[in-house]
Amino acid sequence: MQTLRLGSEGAQVEELQNILHVLGFYKGKIDGIYGKQTQNAVIEFQKNMGLIPDGIAGSKTYQALQPFLMGYDVYTIRSGDTLYQIAKEYNTNVSKIITANPEINPFMLKIGTQIIIPYGMEVVPTNISYTYEVLERNIQGLRKRYPFLQVSTIGKSVEGRNLYCIRLGKGTHRVAYNGTHHANEWITTPLLMKWIERIAEAYAQKGKIRGYDIQTLWNQATIDIIPMVNPDGVNLVVNGIRAENPYYQQVLKWNGGSTNFKQWKANIRGVDLNRNYPAAWEEYKQLEKEMGIMGPGPSLYGGSSPESEPESKAMVDYTKNHNLRLVLAYHTQGEVIFWDFRSLQPPEALLIARKFSEVSGYEIAQPERYQSFAGYKDWFIQDFRRPGYTIEVGKGINPLPISQFPRIYEQNEELLILGAFL
Ligand SMILES: [Zn+2]
Repeated sequence: MQTLRLGSEGAQVEELQNILHVLGFYKGKIDGIYGKQTQNAVIEFQKNMGLIPDGIAGSKTYQALQPFLMGYDVYTIRSGDTLYQIAKEYNTNVSKIITANPEINPFMLKIGTQIIIPYGMEVVPTNISYTYEVLERNIQGLRKRYPFLQVSTIGKSVEGRNLYCIRLGKGTHRVAYNGTHHANEWITTPLLMKWIERIAEAYAQKGKIRGYDIQTLWNQATIDIIPMVNPDGVNLVVNGIRAENPYYQQVLKWNGGSTNFKQWKANIRGVDLNRNYPAAWEEYKQLEKEMGIMGPGPSLYGGSSPESEPESKAMVDYTKNHNLRLVLAYHTQGEVIFWDFRSLQPPEALLIARKFSEVSGYEIAQPERYQSFAGYKDWFIQDFRRPGYTIEVGKGINPLPISQFPRIYEQNEELLILGAFL
């Protein structure tokens, strides 16, 4: 963590403000600007934790914040402890503790045993810029709370970030959902992460969501979620680029000299990952020239060959190896569902699209005929002849403001459940 102080700005400040808000120390706006009010909140937090109250969020302060950012603490059982009393102390409940520690016997706690204590609050924040760092912390936090979640990586990005995959369920009906092929569409990552959190919680509680029994879902389906296909791009959009980054000069040039990357969709090498799949890719290269795209840039450049990028290559390899019944690729452009590719989709593709449309309120796109090229869902439909969808959430200019999150989540919660049943 970077040290933050009066005058600091950016995504890490947003995260700090948010956690201090959750803890009741910060009452101001979550705007990513470390002003007086943020400083005072840090001072109050420091006093509360017995730290030197200097108002600077440095390593000691972050050490104290860490359990709250992760959503859990580690506790060593002492003589006379009960789970009820521990839960009370941590402002959580016994069932959360038992879920996180399936091996403990609540009636025979062993002194000296370390257990995970999930706090009462939820893990995934949905009101801040959702960076790769937040994603990593949330994945770690969720798997501690819900040890039945399986986490793996399907590869690495150009800059070496992990391409995470989180698995829900253990059924034979295999589906996969992904988000953030396009860097400035990162709001699709917290969408998928919040959904994972809600499903995991409902599974643990043997509960229902929107009338669907989540235990049944879990036993029938295996849902793999790759929440951030393009982490380097997200980092560029949210945090910008430092002069010491080896891509600094190039990226700046490709961006027309500007340090504002809000329009950036590509990966760090300026390749549009959703134009880099082997489906009418050569055809697209022709079109590229007509559009005046001559090389790497913020969007629409399809790369030097299909799967030239480690991110798209990882998606292809993963997809080939998992016999998927259906895939969803999340994007953010106008509340539309794309469902076809050159009539190669199976007959049920449109019926499923209609169901998705019903539960989300999103329009079904007209058949794309020859307007769609080299995207993930295009390639999936072409190679597997199974239903593949691009779901475009939200309205407005990317990156969509995080204030749209509640509406987007609301529109997609049931769609995501249905995807695993259909
Ligand atoms: Zn997109």
